[in-house]
Amino acid sequence: MAETVTNWAGNITFAAEELHRPPTLDALRSLVAGSGRVRVLGSGHSFNEIAEPGADGVLLALDALPAEVDVDTTARTVRVGGGVRYAELARRVHGHGLALPNMASLPHISVAGSVATGTHGSGVGNGSLAAAVREVEIVTADGSTVTLGRGDARFGGAVTSLGALGVVTALTLDLEPSFEVEQHLFTELPLDGLDFETVAAAAYSVSLFTDWRAPGFRQVWLKRRTDQSLPAFPWATPATEALHPVPGMPAVNCTEQFGVPGPWHERLPHFRAEFTPSSGAELQSEYLLPRRDALDALRAVDAIRETVAPVLQICEVRTVAADEQWLSPSYGRDTVALHFTWVADTAAVLPVVRRLEEALGGLDARPHWGKVFTVPAEVVRGRYPRIADFAALVGELDPAGTFTNAFVADVLNR
Ligand SMILES: Cc1cc2nc3c(=O)[nH]c(=O)nc-3n(C[C@H](O)[C@H](O)[C@H](O)COP(=O)(O)OP(=O)(O)OC[C@H]3O[C@@H](n4cnc5c(N)ncnc54)[C@H](O)[C@@H]3O)c2cc1C
Repeated sequence: MAETVTNWAGNITFAAEELHRPPTLDALRSLVAGSGRVRVLGSGHSFNEIAEPGADGVLLALDALPAEVDVDTTARTVRVGGGVRYAELARRVHGHGLALPNMASLPHISVAGSVATGTHGSGVGNGSLAAAVREVEIVTADGSTVTLGRGDARFGGAVTSLGALGVVTALTLDLEPSFEVEQHLFTELPLDGLDFETVAAAAYSVSLFTDWRAPGFRQVWLKRRTDQSLPAFPWATPATEALHPVPGMPAVNCTEQFGVPGPWHERLPHFRAEFTPSSGAELQSEYLLPRRDALDALRAVDAIRETVAPVLQICEVRTVAADEQWLSPSYGRDTVALHFTWVADTAAVLPVVRRLEEALGGLDARPHWGKVFTVPAEVVRGRYPRIADFAALVGELDPAGTFTNAFVADVLNR
């Protein structure tokens, strides 16, 4: 019987009847070279059809390949296989006394899939996860490998690539000495009078959460590196119980709070690797816009909160430092990211997504590539100054369009 392949959220059922799991690199090369259309499924945590190869295409996963994690303690780098998830990577890196600079809200996601969509954590000084990548190895349509590293003029298109260049079989990431982090949680931060820049810079990583049922934020999560100071935070009230960002969900799923120091990889994500992240039944959208416009964006959402709140589980506001990947939603600009965890009801959520996109329309918001959005492709294209360079790179590395699915074709107008 044919296998039904869905994404993590279950809102996308892939047309491909089979998920191919090549056990060796040679098997992968032959499969790719013998196929007309190919897409890779990472850990499947995207909420749209970005990974869909189409009914006649091949969908493949890399989880049967050896899960390589090779740490070079002298160079302070790690070479990681294309199917490896952050949870495993982080555990191994930490075992060598080293660290990644940042992580997303969950460690369950694959490294290659995350950086392909511009996935990020928070922190005014922290770039997206792609910013740590120094080299990528890509199996292209003829089954051969192309390696692109920093210093190559094409590297700006190589990492946040929407899976459009080929199969990423390995990445090399920069590391730094291991560090410890404490989480300090606060409640009830008013929107009125908010000094966003000061609040966003109050710790190494800062997240603000609101359900938009009232103006202002229900929770503030400050993640402080223990080698950095924590300024006073007089604007909100210290939390008195452990919290999950989604109201009513169990805090046991979340990483340790109350200022208990712990290793970076057990504090930077909000959710523990061994539990379901977030609410588990949800859709997500996210818009990334210039950080200087954060208050305008928050006021724009506040103005329509009666439309947003009924289908919202939680909204998270984070910051991302500018990076240099041409298709990164934080390319070239310090960024504020407005994330929305919706209820798991596409029909109810889509009209609200459209209304939200109208409200943010004048703010040059770039939608997260891996989440639900309805912004037309020509508008999205206009928000990426290097999109033509990326299209040229796709044309060079994949002239027959083996890795160009409908999502990518729409974005690139091919
Ligand atoms: C509960 C939850 C929490 C989340 N939290 C965050 C967050 O904190 N910050 C954030 O920015 N995003 C977040 N996301 C979004 C998530 O990080 C992205 O959707 C990311 O792409 C997931 O990685 P993945 O491996 O599951 O990618 P997939 O959805 O499997 O794939 C994404 C894209 O990458 C391509 N791809 C994957 N692997 C390869 C490969 N080896 N070679 C070539 N192409 C490849 C796919 O073809 C596809 O185009 C969250 C999602 C969920 C479900």
